[in-house]
Amino acid sequence: MAIAVDIDGTIHGPHDARISVFDHGFLFGDGVYEVLRTYRQRPFLYAAHMARLRASAGQIALHCPLTDEAMRGRIDATIAAAAVPGEAYIRILLTRGVGDIVYDPAACPVPTVVIIVKPHLEVSDVARADGVVVALVSVVRNHPDSVNPVIKSNNLLNNALAMQQAYAAGAFEALMQNHRGELCECAQSNLFVVRADAVLTPPVSAGLLVGVTRGFVLALAAGLGLEAGEAVLREADLDSVDEAFLTSTTREIVPVVRIGDHVVGGGRPGPVTRRLVDAFAAAVADRLG
Ligand code: PLP
Repeated sequence: MAIAVDIDGTIHGPHDARISVFDHGFLFGDGVYEVLRTYRQRPFLYAAHMARLRASAGQIALHCPLTDEAMRGRIDATIAAAAVPGEAYIRILLTRGVGDIVYDPAACPVPTVVIIVKPHLEVSDVARADGVVVALVSVVRNHPDSVNPVIKSNNLLNNALAMQQAYAAGAFEALMQNHRGELCECAQSNLFVVRADAVLTPPVSAGLLVGVTRGFVLALAAGLGLEAGEAVLREADLDSVDEAFLTSTTREIVPVVRIGDHVVGGGRPGPVTRRLVDAFAAAVADRLG
């Protein structure tokens, strides 16, 4: 089958996995989610993803009804049912639940929990080796006082609109600026640059999702003895950075060779990015023991 979906504890195939049109996740995007991947069929950085799921849910006054252990049981059962050949992509969706068409959360007494498991798609060898092009889009990242990007929200129109521009430009990703005109994050990943051997990423105060991979890579860089941390970055800074790369759960580390009109690192992935890619692979292998 290769795709399986758990809806509130019952596993379905891809064609009979259905939720109510009165689910507020569908009606309003009222819910949160997580994306994990497996290495050797085991979800990676599970505790960190569950912690973020609970933090996201808490920000919208939603409670995750399952313990980490119970959620893990459902995930493992869904992976087994999907019988994915190779590694799995796992999407957990937690929505407000089913209720009348009103914004009152009290209309939905029971949240909906969906787990989608499907084959994980690796970033292509070409993208990994040669780097990718990122569009610098005109869509502004949500203001933190709007739908705060720190919430991994099912309300993804901001990201989808940014990606429409990236697709139109033939780009791999869409880099958004925030309301202050600072570089913020991409539609599906965090941005890093390397400047004078320092590994830098926009600060959480820029209004972005605190990527699990972002944290993992910052720690990796520090472990390699590199200066690593947050820095406010603007478009003009792109002309003086030596390297750039993206991070996300499904993509790990992807070198970037152009952002909008700015060629980065002479158009080739740089040595610090390569070191981090190698360190990432080693750290994954290490953790799997
Ligand atoms: N930023 C956004 C907007 C994302 O959607 C994602 C992942 O989907 C990320 C960053 C990277 O987060 P993570 O490393 O936790 O996958």
